[in-house]
Amino acid sequence: MKIGFIGLGHMGAPMALNLIKAGHALTVFDLSAEALQTLVDAGATKAASPKAAATGAEWVITMLPAAAHVRTVLSAEDGVLAGIAKGVTIIDSSTIDPASAKEFGALAAKHGNAFVDAPVSGGTGGAAAGTLTFMVGGSAALYESVKPVLSGMGKNIVHCGETGTGQVAKICNNLVLGVTMAGVAEAMALGEALGIDTKVLGGIMNTSTGRCWSSDTYNPFPGVIETAPSSRGYTGGFGTDLMLKDMGLATDAAKSVHQPAYMGALAQQLYQAMSSRGDGKLDFSAIIKLYRGEQG
Ligand code: NAD
Repeated sequence: MKIGFIGLGHMGAPMALNLIKAGHALTVFDLSAEALQTLVDAGATKAASPKAAATGAEWVITMLPAAAHVRTVLSAEDGVLAGIAKGVTIIDSSTIDPASAKEFGALAAKHGNAFVDAPVSGGTGGAAAGTLTFMVGGSAALYESVKPVLSGMGKNIVHCGETGTGQVAKICNNLVLGVTMAGVAEAMALGEALGIDTKVLGGIMNTSTGRCWSSDTYNPFPGVIETAPSSRGYTGGFGTDLMLKDMGLATDAAKSVHQPAYMGALAQQLYQAMSSRGDGKLDFSAIIKLYRGEQG
């Protein structure tokens, strides 16, 4: 398949690399020359704009930070919709609000194109290993049509319902993630302050009822899980600013349906504090720095 892929960051780059490995022909675009070069070195064709990446493509995939970036990439003068052929499906894997996903679905439909929201979970490790979970919002027929493409990048491809419901699933999942990371950070820092070996504490947690992804895969305490961002200076994972964005998506969505989000609101403020002190680019597990009294 000829695929136009836009957004080659922490997630997009390994996802695009897996599509190349699966035998697809990729035309790629990103604002970062460095990100583009990595993909060109792996065999992708460089495009000069989202429009150029979409021209001649049979599928277009976007993996961008937030809804504003997706809006620009789709509808700017040199955007996807200016180059895409009618009938081609746009797959947006960025994490954005469900209302924007619906808006982009309507915009694409006006141009004679289908749109699915297909946000992912599994982190950069899952992106590199090709084991991501895709949460797909769109008709059942669209879901069936995108499955073969998504299976080049993920293991679980789940149909959530109509357009926007993929984002609902993603936002609710990340609400849990943001809260559990804060909880694990709080407990690990407390254990350290009370004098237990943190590797022992991490091990106990991971065979006890406190176990969760934030403790057993992504433990925020350095050295507990060697492959976690905490063990490499909180680099190369899921940025604090992106988690802050997701907590905002969750609390805004909660407000829209008059639903309380007590824990989400508190966790949002903790990530906000991290961002305000200049740690927004660190992996979100760096939230433990607030508890360990480390300067930003
Ligand atoms: P990132 O910041 O590493 O990458 C985003 C990329 O988009 C960058 O390379 C940037 O240059 C590019 N970009 C921004 N504006 C652009 C534009 N107008 N045109 C072309 N390229 C543009 O972000 P990421 O970590 O890859 O995350 C991408 C999305 O996936 C986000 O919505 C995030 O919430 C979500 N997500 C991330 C993770 C994770 O672990 N990092 C996990 C699940 C979901």
